[in-house]
Amino acid sequence: MECDVVIVGTGAGGGIAAEILSRSGLKVVMVEEGPLKTSADFKMQEKQAYADLYQEVAGRQTIDKSIQILQGRCVGGSTTVNWTSSFRTPERTLSYWKERFGIKGLSSSELKPWFQWVEQRLNIAPWSIPPNQNNQLLADGLRKLGWEYNVIPRNVSGCANLGYCGMGCPINAKQSMLVSCIPMALSLGSQLIARARAEQILVEKEQVRGVMLSSVDNRGQVKQKNVTFIRARQVILAAGAIGSPAILLRSGLQKANPLVGKRTFLHPVTATIGLMSEKVNGFYGAPQSIYSDEFLWRDGVTGEMGYKLEVPPLHPLLASTLLRHHGEKHFQLMQNFAFYQANLALLRDGFNDLSIGGEVKLDKYDYPQLDYSPNEILWRGIRHATLSMAEVQFAAGAKKVIPLHMDATFYSTLKRARDAIMNLPAKALRWQIMSAHVMGGCAMGSDASESVCNSKGQLRGLDNLSILDGSIFPTSLGVNPQLSIYAIVAKLVAQLAQKLGGNLPQDLKAL
Ligand SMILES: Cc1cc2nc3c(=O)[nH]c(=O)nc-3n(C[C@H](O)[C@H](O)[C@H](O)COP(=O)(O)OP(=O)(O)OC[C@H]3O[C@@H](n4cnc5c(N)ncnc54)[C@H](O)[C@@H]3O)c2cc1C
Ligand code: SF4
Repeated sequence: MECDVVIVGTGAGGGIAAEILSRSGLKVVMVEEGPLKTSADFKMQEKQAYADLYQEVAGRQTIDKSIQILQGRCVGGSTTVNWTSSFRTPERTLSYWKERFGIKGLSSSELKPWFQWVEQRLNIAPWSIPPNQNNQLLADGLRKLGWEYNVIPRNVSGCANLGYCGMGCPINAKQSMLVSCIPMALSLGSQLIARARAEQILVEKEQVRGVMLSSVDNRGQVKQKNVTFIRARQVILAAGAIGSPAILLRSGLQKANPLVGKRTFLHPVTATIGLMSEKVNGFYGAPQSIYSDEFLWRDGVTGEMGYKLEVPPLHPLLASTLLRHHGEKHFQLMQNFAFYQANLALLRDGFNDLSIGGEVKLDKYDYPQLDYSPNEILWRGIRHATLSMAEVQFAAGAKKVIPLHMDATFYSTLKRARDAIMNLPAKALRWQIMSAHVMGGCAMGSDASESVCNSKGQLRGLDNLSILDGSIFPTSLGVNPQLSIYAIVAKLVAQLAQKLGGNLPQDLKAL
């Protein structure tokens, strides 16, 4: 096949790039390793959704298995299954990128029109309906403690408050890439190849020639290796912050760019569960609608790890993997499922020399793996965050609270919880950590010895290879990533469209 631009991956970065390039009149082919599933397939069933729509059936883990990683693997990528929270990149994060990594063109004021454009395109606005009980209890606890909180903006249109965003929205209310930018690109003549994994990029005479694809089945197992080659003037990698570095590694491009795959960040997440006296039914209603930044910058930008407080939706399968334990103890824990309220803390990694993140590597089958071992600064952040979350839950009226730690039990007073949390062993596989926010691994920057691509997302040494997804962030963000990816990619891909001779549409030209 031949085209102007081949885009690998159809998530937040790939979807927005496809729309802008197609609207600029360029011939685009989108390649996606996951299947094409639509609202007709979304049955609000965890066991089906995780198998159909997630990387490794939602069981992806770091090499030491200490961190559980959720990422989408379907048309629309993680946006098809995400929880719709939409935050602009914090000013402090963008200033740090500029000062520390010399990133150009991405200050708050330069990005403002792009945030506004995306917010309009994807109908992003603060959630105007009362929060579900899971989120309401977070707000109640925060208010009683005098800690700041606010309402989360969401990318939805006609949301029925069902609460099953993580299984694919059954009524197309979530404005994911699946129902917005990808259909727009297809309506303008772009093509989409699903269940096709980009294996390698072909480079000849210091120019990228195209991408070699293998066909895969619905579960992501390779059916036929290297079946199709797509020749393109420009290749865009948007396979996410594990997928994009993996393609560069498989293509041998780390030889010229030794930092490929390094400094991969996660917003490591830990959680606490509070037992309430009334039913919470945390599976119903918009999953996330309240947040607090009380502790996000608790020690400045570069000090101890700060964290954002939110809640996760509670569905039985996912919750039962979080509430570990076995047999009778696990059975007892799950008995009260409807009465649980959960808080989570997203920790901001990558903002100082102790927080170095992880590294994407290939296993013996050339399949990506993430090596990310929790270290002291992360454990300190996790302990601090666990204390804050327990405090909020007791303030909201919890009868007892349990942190997600194998040595923890339910504690019935804040004092007991605090004493226990201060002494829980900071050990991998005992303190549970998870993440749905993978970033970095192909960092932007101005210094070639510290970055993989420049501030335009162009891989060093190959001017017709761009990386346009969450992997180009040089640190994590401190907020849920989708809106940052949409806006930054929109700005960079608009420049690229012009460079390729495309005719940028008026609404984008004006920004
Ligand atoms: C359960 C869940 C909830 C979340 N909730 C929120 C939220 O509320 N708010 C928020 O801001 N963020 C949320 N996120 C995170 C957010 O969705 C992601 O950060 C964002 O979508 C990442 O965009 P991306 O373009 O980097 O990668 P992705 O959106 O992950 O897309 C990458 C795509 O590339 C494909 N791919 C990978 N390798 C290959 C290959 N070799 N060949 C072809 N295709 C490939 C993948 O299958 C995938 O479809 C959530 C994520 C999950 C999983
Ligand atoms: S909460 Fe809204 S956006 Fe999420 S699945 Fe339900 S209807 Fe769709």
